[in-house]
Amino acid sequence: MKPKVAFYWCASCGGCEEAVVDLAEDVLAVVEAVDIVFWPVAMDYKLSDVEALDDDELAVSFINGAIRTSEQREVVELLRRKSGAVVAFGACAWLGGIPGLANLSSATSILEFVYRESPSTPDGDGVRPLEETEVPEGRLVLPHFDEDVRTLDQVIEVDYYLPGCPPPASLIAQAVTAIVEGKLPEKGSVLAPDVALCAECPRADTKPEDLKVGAFHRPYEVIADPETCLLAQGIVCLGPATRSGCDAVCMRANMPCTGCMGPTSRVIDHGAKALSAIASLIESRDRDEIAVLAEQIVDPVGTFYRYSLPASLLHRRVDAASATTSGSAKS
Ligand code: SF4
Ligand code: SF4
Repeated sequence: MKPKVAFYWCASCGGCEEAVVDLAEDVLAVVEAVDIVFWPVAMDYKLSDVEALDDDELAVSFINGAIRTSEQREVVELLRRKSGAVVAFGACAWLGGIPGLANLSSATSILEFVYRESPSTPDGDGVRPLEETEVPEGRLVLPHFDEDVRTLDQVIEVDYYLPGCPPPASLIAQAVTAIVEGKLPEKGSVLAPDVALCAECPRADTKPEDLKVGAFHRPYEVIADPETCLLAQGIVCLGPATRSGCDAVCMRANMPCTGCMGPTSRVIDHGAKALSAIASLIESRDRDEIAVLAEQIVDPVGTFYRYSLPASLLHRRVDAASATTSGSAKS
């Protein structure tokens, strides 16, 4: 019997689903090797098909995207019950990812902006979707929009993590092979090499041992030399603080690493590690000069916590008013 697997998406851009399709002819090998019993984006299975399975009947569920709604919580809890193993697939499921940057705003302020304040919202009645609406035909129900974005393992137990935004095809293929052959590593493992990205970067030889930075530039402000370490050119590259396994694809395209492969196992907070790695390179010891350099990093949260805010020690922004009225915001 082929192992049964499921793919599911939560707060996701669809890129992780695309990555499975990007396996190209290898996707046929995956389809051949496993029995896909649930993949809403690609196949017409229903949730009731999953509900009808025995507990643990699925060998693995690959779940991408962060968790933001009651529907997502309910489906991943169901998949957890039905699965021998759950893989957090991609940066959003593992660390919160790009959707996790919504933790800089409260749920209320997001809904206010989207339905009342955004420039594309017509003036008028301020209509907002309701979670429950009675209509002549019955009761319409929408999922609850949670107060914060959470990582998959802040909601259910996760067995393995596939990093990347999206995960590289080679890592997906290796993970599927390991499942089929029953050779999965220790529970809790991140299915990628546990070394920093600089180790596999083709520019590593040009990164000075005693690298110091006198000014930071955004990628569009300079024409980067395509052979030289980007950090040595003053472009913020998170390679020193980020896990390898992506074949340094961004550096090969003359762009810096933005950290989507997440941290190595020795790091608790990826953003803090990245911030400290970059801050340690500042040449000046003069407070005013350092302040000028800090200003050159115009979006610190988006630079250092782009993929990991919900997983970080910070988790989310809490304003004083909501902290006193709602208690602790983090579960
Ligand atoms: S990890 Fe990247 S590709 Fe995957 S859903 Fe999140 S944003 Fe999209
Ligand atoms: S800092 Fe960036 S460009 Fe430099 S060696 Fe590391 S990954 Fe490559």
